[in-house]
Amino acid sequence: MSQEQKHPDLEQLRNQIDDINQQLLQLLSQRAELARAIGEVKKAQGINRFDPVRERDMLDRLVQDNPGPFDDGTIRHLFKQIFKASLDLQQKNHKKALLVSRKRRPEDTVVHVGEIPVGNGAKSIVAGPCSVESEEQVRQVAQALKEQGVSLLRGGAFKPRTSPYDFQGLGIEGLRILRKAGDEFGLKVVSEIVNPADIELAEQYVDVIQIGARNMQNFELLKAAGAASKPVFLKRGMSATVEEFLFAAEYIVSRGNSQVMLCERGIRTYEKWTRNTLDISAVPILKQESHLPVFVDITHSTGRRDIQLPVARAALAAGADGIMLEVHPDPSVALSDANQQIDIPQFNKFMEEMRRAGFVTSSTATVG
Ligand code: PEP
Ligand code: MN
Repeated sequence: MSQEQKHPDLEQLRNQIDDINQQLLQLLSQRAELARAIGEVKKAQGINRFDPVRERDMLDRLVQDNPGPFDDGTIRHLFKQIFKASLDLQQKNHKKALLVSRKRRPEDTVVHVGEIPVGNGAKSIVAGPCSVESEEQVRQVAQALKEQGVSLLRGGAFKPRTSPYDFQGLGIEGLRILRKAGDEFGLKVVSEIVNPADIELAEQYVDVIQIGARNMQNFELLKAAGAASKPVFLKRGMSATVEEFLFAAEYIVSRGNSQVMLCERGIRTYEKWTRNTLDISAVPILKQESHLPVFVDITHSTGRRDIQLPVARAALAAGADGIMLEVHPDPSVALSDANQQIDIPQFNKFMEEMRRAGFVTSSTATVG
């Protein structure tokens, strides 16, 4: 005996449900049109779209008239969804895809650091000491970069240190040292800025403004970087989701600066054998969701020298446009991150291995 014969009225009941679905759909659409019209009136009158008093009133009346069998909580929940969908409709501009999203711009953004393109298919390398410590220290690293064909020199002048008693960086003097070495060896310089008020001054020295993990949600800093005329190297916060990371980038781009590079630098987990946990899946997700170039910081994500090569290869294989790493002439005496920076011979070896693996080519600019 078939199911239909056992329940002769099932089909009929289903037909009735289908009818009601259709009616609900028509009514919901009518309701949405009315909500949209109300939105227009509110806009014309300069009134806030969201009216919690009105919403409370509607919910109270619905619950009061609830004939069952749904309980009051369910009715509230269902209608809250309808109210929310209507509000979203009134605010549809905010629902548009983000400016940093691939939905808004399907083609890759190529960031121009001066005449050097980043994100054009070639793999870029940003390297240099954690902190700028002296002219000689930066010169030695700059020379090594030059010899390896790497054209983006990094160095921290304003250091956002966890302890206030640790080396805080040389400040403007550090930027001056970096610029001098950059000019001497024909390199572009990248340095972190931590204070929105310093951005304008920093632009006189640096080619790229770095915003560090600890400042990824310093919204005033993001806005100031959005008004800057230099590209921005934005690092993911140590406990930021990918979505929060993209919203941070949106702050910069929506203020008028489209030249943003994203850098995955590891997130905080319970794992102790690496300093952070490199979220490798963030790389293809960021590439898929956004048109901005994506870097991986192989130094801060791992905090160890012995796995930098496979991690760099993994990052580039996952689709990263470049990698960042810390290089110091004598890491054991470095004023910050002494345990994780590699020295110049190690850097040379690293570059050689990357070349051998086909990830970078020998004639490289930003390695390409
Ligand atoms: C840095 O790159 O200099 C740095 C401090 O890294 P992060 O902001 O990712 O901790
Ligand atoms: Mn560092």
